[in-house]
Amino acid sequence: MDLVDVHSHLDDNRFKEDLDEVIERARKAGVKFIITSGVNPSTNRRSLEIMERYSDVVKVSFGVYPIDAIIEKIKDAGEESDLRYVEEFNVDDELRWIEENKDKCVAIGECGLDYKVVEGYNEEQKKVFAKVIELSKKIDKPLVIHSRKAELDAIDIMEEMNCKKVLMHCFNGKKSLIKRCVDLGWSFSVPPVIVRLEHFKMLVKIVPLEQLMTETDAPYLSPVAGEKNESANVSVTIKEIAQIKEMSEEEVAKQIFENAKEMFGL
Ligand SMILES: [Zn+2]
Repeated sequence: MDLVDVHSHLDDNRFKEDLDEVIERARKAGVKFIITSGVNPSTNRRSLEIMERYSDVVKVSFGVYPIDAIIEKIKDAGEESDLRYVEEFNVDDELRWIEENKDKCVAIGECGLDYKVVEGYNEEQKKVFAKVIELSKKIDKPLVIHSRKAELDAIDIMEEMNCKKVLMHCFNGKKSLIKRCVDLGWSFSVPPVIVRLEHFKMLVKIVPLEQLMTETDAPYLSPVAGEKNESANVSVTIKEIAQIKEMSEEEVAKQIFENAKEMFGL
């Protein structure tokens, strides 16, 4: 079975010591492609280095994470204490860098909107998101979308801007929004945490297999609570989808591999 992990963070510090082994285990599990996603200037560049180091299996998407993009404003307001450390950066400069390096990436993301972590920056976030979407259209790359407690706004903006190639990563929105994305022709990537969360089982039930993909968001969203997630675990999601769709794991894996190839041009 050929497998694919369309969203991960291999640059994460938790992979510093064992990335060779993580990649090796993924290869052994049949993972042919891993897309690692940057979220700001430093992680975009680290992700690029990782892609160059494991170029046979790792692909990269360059992102501007919604919270990171407004970190300067959050810091100015003295509200950053609960957030992970992010260096301040200029969004326009980073979008320019991404454009200059467009041939090295397969997608733009992760990007989107996040109203959960900090309140009061929704309009700023939307402005940044619109700029990121503009770039993705200009360089013709799919979008990998993070939308937390902001699903409706994210969908509205992308629909208004006529986005076609969209992957909703770890989507937590309600049923009606899932259906709306399906009707818009967008796709969803499902993390291994599906074994513990009814929400994703419901999502898999109502989304056609042609619009599903497998992701890990590693090191996050592990199938086992408290454990570090890794790309080899996409097999867990395949198994779960096969059960829900009442198909063989081979059939599911084959279709998902095709879906990913089609969207990301792998
Ligand atoms: Zn992620």
